[in-house]
Formats: sequence, structure tokens, C-alpha cells
Amino acid sequence: MSMFDCIIVGAGPAGSSAAYHLAKRGHSVIMLEKAAFPRYKPCGGGVSPAVQEWFDFDFAPAIAAKVDRVGFTWKLGDPVSTNLKTQPMWMVQREVFDKFLVDKATEQGATLQDQTTVNGIKFNGSAWQVSTDKDPIEAKYLIAADGAKGNCANWLGLKSSPNHISMVLDLPEAPQATNIANFDFGSLKNGFIWRFPNGDRTSISAAILANPKGKPQEVQKQISKYAQAIGLDPSRGQMYEHPLSLWSDNKPLHGQNALVVGDAAGITDPLLAEGIRPSMFTGVKAAAAIANAIAGDSSALPEYSSIVHQAWGEEYVWAQRLSGLFFKLPGVAYKVGVKRPTAAQIMSQILCGQTRYTDITDKAIKTLKRSFLPGQG
Ligand SMILES: Cc1cc2nc3c(=O)[nH]c(=O)nc-3n(C[C@H](O)[C@H](O)[C@H](O)COP(=O)(O)OP(=O)(O)OC[C@H]3O[C@@H](n4cnc5c(N)ncnc54)[C@H](O)[C@@H]3O)c2cc1C
Repeated sequence: MSMFDCIIVGAGPAGSSAAYHLAKRGHSVIMLEKAAFPRYKPCGGGVSPAVQEWFDFDFAPAIAAKVDRVGFTWKLGDPVSTNLKTQPMWMVQREVFDKFLVDKATEQGATLQDQTTVNGIKFNGSAWQVSTDKDPIEAKYLIAADGAKGNCANWLGLKSSPNHISMVLDLPEAPQATNIANFDFGSLKNGFIWRFPNGDRTSISAAILANPKGKPQEVQKQISKYAQAIGLDPSRGQMYEHPLSLWSDNKPLHGQNALVVGDAAGITDPLLAEGIRPSMFTGVKAAAAIANAIAGDSSALPEYSSIVHQAWGEEYVWAQRLSGLFFKLPGVAYKVGVKRPTAAQIMSQILCGQTRYTDITDKAIKTLKRSFLPGQG
């Protein structure tokens, strides 16, 4: 049986970020991935440029478009749009972006074994034995990076959050405006629709954020209606359903010689549905923690949980509060919050890591509460 320092289950952005940084530190690491790479992942493909600072190579070849303008609508009407004052947001095609990152990891010496499904894990007292539909593999450490649909977090007793319904319609048509991202509120109850330019295609995503029990048929219907309303024929595209693994609370993200990262750790933003940047962050931090543990630091893995809780968990408490209030009276929230010229700037500052929910939520909640009072707003 092959023996590695670390087995990573799943080669999405969380897993490959961890693989890159572990391999770069000289550790032997293998990514076990059930799909054949490159693989498609249902996703809007919006990525914060803030991820660049965690890597020493340029992501430019993996970026399909850049967005420097954001538009909002309420039930497809009442539009506003504004230019961003932050760096432009990246738009990526996930089969390209994820393969790019995996290639960077393998260039550092990591191994990718794709078309390999992990179907069980067992700790034998000193190492993890991972069974697959091929040969079993052994490693001292394990990273669960198998996404919102994976089983590893459950097997480790670390599954953190209920999945939420989300879908994307990918249309094989380059958008007329390649630099604008659009968000529609009000059409989909307890959630929203977002349309991103994505090179030679347009992606229209939607998610129900404020209620884990939404109906997929409703999401599909609203996406199709949205596409038709902007002059696109939904039947020309492909609709995919995939759960969103929204953050719920600060649960442990480490077990015996094991960590969970990315959607397997329920790391997606409960208000904005951003998952790629937080997933990559957890991958980077998990690599550092495992390298420290290999070097003999017995508190390195618990420390990883604390780092993620501090960096994201504390933030997400505020995002959850804002989301709860927003979806209570979304029409009012649209009018007094989203439509303000500052809203898009704040959103992009949050995505770029320049502003924290902690800094803005108190004021936003007071504004929303004031406008919810009869006779106000
Ligand atoms: C419709 C939709 C739109 C979205 N839009 C955005 C967006 O615009 N911007 C953004 O930041 N986030 C977005 N997200 C969230 C984002 O896609 C995820 O947060 C992100 O992909 C998580 O990365 P990950 O590496 O944790 O998991 P994944 O990217 O899901 O990768 C997990 C990998 O594990 C593999 N795997 C699973 N089980 C096994 C197994 N048993 N054995 C081996 N391999 C296995 C899978 O094949 C997969 O390749 C969106 C999500 C959805 C559903």
C-alpha cells in the first residue's frame, strides 16, 4: 500500500490549494478525485481577486472575464448599477480554473489520482487508511475536501451545516457586456439570482439562502423566467443543480490527524453565497496546520479550527443576521439598502477582504430596522 504524508479527498479549489502549499513545503501529498479532470463544477464562477495574495503564481491564464460593474434589480425591474472602486472581480470557468490550480499543485510534486472514488476511511492508530474503488491508500494525515456532496466530513463526525438548494443555467452565449455582474432580488423567495459573464458563456445562478428546505422546481422556474426576461432562451443552455454548503456555526474542523476544508467544512458565505475564496483560504491554512503537525506541533490541528472560526466564523454570524433581516422584508431592504450607491461598493469590499461584516452590519441592521417601522422607509 502506498504511504503519503497527506491524502486529500477532492481536487476542487479547497483541496488543490492545500495540495499546492503542502507539496511546496516538500511533503508527499495525493489528491484523490472521483471525477475525470478537468471536470465541470456547477458554479457562477465569480472569484475574488484577493485569493492572488495566497499564491506565488499568476492566476491570469485561468480568468475568463473581469467585472468592474455591478447591477441590481428588484423582480427584474427598478434597476441600479454602479462601477466598482475595488479591483475587478474575476469570472472563471470552473473546469479551467480548477484544472489550473491542480496543475500548479502537481508541478510542485503533488499527485493527482482522478477517476478514483473514496468510499471509506479508517484511522489505525498512526495513519489513515483510505479505501477507494481502486487500490487503498495510506497517509499520516487526511484532508476532507470533497465538497458539499461529499461524505468525508460525516465519516469524521465533523459535518457542519445543512445544504441549501442552488442551481446554475450555463448558456453557450457570450454576454453583450463582458464586465458587469447582475443580481436580481425578489423573484426567488428567500434567495436571489445572479448572472455572470463568463468568457464564451453566460451563467445564471440562483440559490435559496434563508431556508434550507426550498424547492428545486421553483429555483429552476425562476432561473428560466429570468433568462427569458433578458432575451436568452433557457433551452439553449444546460441547467445543473448542486447544493450550497452555507456556514451555520463554529463547529470543530479538525479530528484525529484530519481536517475538513472548503464546502466539506460548510464554508460558504450565508449572505452572498461566496464559496471559492473561503474554500481556498481553508485549503491554504490546512496545509500550514498539517505541515506544523508533521513538524511536531501537537496543537496545530485545533489551531486550524480556531483560525477559520476567527477569520470567517465570527464574520458569518453577522452575515447570518443581515441575511435573516434582509429576507424578512426583501422589498424594503432592496429599497433602503441594495439600491444605495454604497451597497455594491461594500459588497465588493467584503469580497476583496477590505471590509468586514463586523464593521458594517451594525449600521446596516439599524438602517433596515428603522425602515421596517410603520411609516418609515
Ligand atoms: C449554483 C452555484 C453557484 C455558485 N457560484 C459561486 C460563485 O459565483 N462564486 C463563489 O465563490 N462560489 C460560488 N459557489 C460555491 C462554490 O462553487 C463552492 O463553494 C466551491 O466549489 C467549493 O470548493 P470545494 O473545493 O470545497 O468543493 P468542490 O469544488 O465541490 O470540489 C469537491 C471535489 O470533491 C470531489 N469528490 C466528492 N466526493 C468524492 C469522493 N468520495 N472521492 C473522491 N472525490 C470526491 C468532487 O468530484 C469535487 O471535484 C456556487 C455554488 C453553486 C452550487
